[in-house]
Amino acid sequence: MAVLVLNYDYQPIHITTWRRAIILVLKQKAEVVEARSDRRLRTVRTEYAFPSIIRLMRYVPVPYKHIPLTRQNIFRRDGFRCAYCGTSHNLTIDHVIPRSQGGESSWENLVTACESCNRQKGNRTPQQAGMPLLIRPRKPHYLLFWLRGAEEVDTSWRPYLMLEARV
Ligand SMILES: [Zn+2]
Repeated sequence: MAVLVLNYDYQPIHITTWRRAIILVLKQKAEVVEARSDRRLRTVRTEYAFPSIIRLMRYVPVPYKHIPLTRQNIFRRDGFRCAYCGTSHNLTIDHVIPRSQGGESSWENLVTACESCNRQKGNRTPQQAGMPLLIRPRKPHYLLFWLRGAEEVDTSWRPYLMLEARV
């Protein structure tokens, strides 16, 4: 079971094992931000919740890492699912605000869309097409790309990993 490590400022910086996470917490170098409700760790004296997210008690400087804006990275960010209907079949890339209406190719304006949603939406915005987005497209955190597939991302991590990276 992996644990997401947040910096003192709540920026995700690392993914570690639960054993290391618990040692950091016991040494008071980190605090538990989110715990798993389904698993507990029992010792002679006390019982601990398994952490799923911990936060370091001191700020650790980390270099900024660039994530290239590519088709595959948009798919990964969106968990290989259509941003309109959620299917994982026949995926394409959609400009939320169409290029014909001045929409840019950016993390905020590109989403994963299945072929049929993309065709149905056409050259319209989600609002014009009556097709609300299931996600809010943002620049993903580089840690999301350390993980092999979106299915491994603990749901409690997602809000942290989708935070805009510092530029
Ligand atoms: Zn779709």
